[in-house]
Amino acid sequence: MENRKTLSTRVVIAGGGPAGMMCGFLLARAGIDTVVLEKHKDFFRDFRGDTVHPATLNAIYELGLFDAFRKVPHQELRDIAAEIEGVPYPVGDFRHLPGHAQFIAIMPQWDFLNFLAEKAKALPHFRLLMEAKAVDLLASGDRVTGLVAETPDGPLDIAADLVIGADGRHSTIREKAGFKPLERGVPIDVLWLKLPRQESDPEAALGRVSAGLLFVMIDRGTYWQCAFVVPKNGFEAIKAQGIEKFRARLKTAAGFAANRIDAIASFDDVSLLTVAVDRLPQWARPGLLCIGDAAHAMSPVGGIGINLAIQDAIAAANLLWQPLLRGKPTLGDLNRVQARREFAVKVTQGLQVAIQNRIIAPTLASTAPVKPPFVLKLLKAFPILRTIPAYMVGIGVRPEHIHAPDRANR
Ligand SMILES: Cc1cc2nc3c(=O)[nH]c(=O)nc-3n(C[C@H](O)[C@H](O)[C@H](O)COP(=O)(O)OP(=O)(O)OC[C@H]3O[C@@H](n4cnc5c(N)ncnc54)[C@H](O)[C@@H]3O)c2cc1C
Repeated sequence: MENRKTLSTRVVIAGGGPAGMMCGFLLARAGIDTVVLEKHKDFFRDFRGDTVHPATLNAIYELGLFDAFRKVPHQELRDIAAEIEGVPYPVGDFRHLPGHAQFIAIMPQWDFLNFLAEKAKALPHFRLLMEAKAVDLLASGDRVTGLVAETPDGPLDIAADLVIGADGRHSTIREKAGFKPLERGVPIDVLWLKLPRQESDPEAALGRVSAGLLFVMIDRGTYWQCAFVVPKNGFEAIKAQGIEKFRARLKTAAGFAANRIDAIASFDDVSLLTVAVDRLPQWARPGLLCIGDAAHAMSPVGGIGINLAIQDAIAAANLLWQPLLRGKPTLGDLNRVQARREFAVKVTQGLQVAIQNRIIAPTLASTAPVKPPFVLKLLKAFPILRTIPAYMVGIGVRPEHIHAPDRANR
């Protein structure tokens, strides 16, 4: 008989992204033995969003880690703006937000995850297994009792009172649990690319809009992280037309940065984000809970996926640390996480889908000059109103606060 390696813990979390790392940290801090599995050997990989929003920063403050966080190199974004047919419109101003952070921190996601991992690894109840890929669930009857991981040392069976699927929008855990997401139709995809930044460039994050073009630029210090929005499955047609044609469109889209499009030498410098918006009707079954993108993939509109994933993690820890101290959480305990978070997810996805369908798709299809929506004129005329979009993006619906206690060293 094969001599399989085994491990026993209270909670095993598949996925060391923002949701998994934050949830693992909070549960271990509350004194619950937690193992987080990450399939990659480090956090250093493709761009997946670099935004740490005020709601997340408030949680970091509540954890007493705000000063340490701000020592990690980052930029602090206080304004978002749009430029329509060359005319600038201020959209969001974070300076008047309630709470401890009046900015979005722009920090490479791997630095943020390394920061969380470093803090978590100092806790006696936390264990992070890198290069450990969850491939299947262990079950006894209907109840999930653990998972199977592939590791460099061979397969590992991990028994746990709770399995958390935080393995992102292509989640293995949700598939093995038999969960099927409800998908919302999405009319767009996004091409990500980088353009050099110059000292004289504006400081705000910019959405540049003109007939048939939508281009977002996020200041990353030495470069602009840019999103070129295309119709769904439009990248193949763009590639078929060739790089020169794409660069010509990029030149129009990039405005003040048009003189730097040489940075895009080929389509190797462009990566495709296939935009998906979906949501599980049921996030839990006995012994298992999905959170973050595994429970609901978000559109890139507003750049709020990381924040929502973190808010799920906080809610899960708030609601589950006590049941876990008592023993195995019941399905009722797990369903309370979905009940707490689903409203925020539905409202946010509803807004994202409305923006995609009513603003972004018609803009991409238009050949006539784009007229600014009335709301942008209002925001230009009344600066105080700019706090509202900043609140929606930075704090969002139903922000969570840390209630799971620090019992780490008991
Ligand atoms: C190109 C791109 C740009 C984006 N830009 C932004 C942005 O600007 N702002 C924003 O807020 N959001 C952005 N997002 C979305 C954001 O990345 C996600 O919403 C967020 O990371 C979700 O966090 P998560 O922890 O739920 O999942 P993920 O971040 O996807 O993390 C899942 C983790 O699980 C690991 N994993 C997967 N399968 C397994 C397995 N079987 N076993 C073990 N580990 C596994 C993965 O390697 C990964 O580390 C972007 C996404 C993409 C793809």
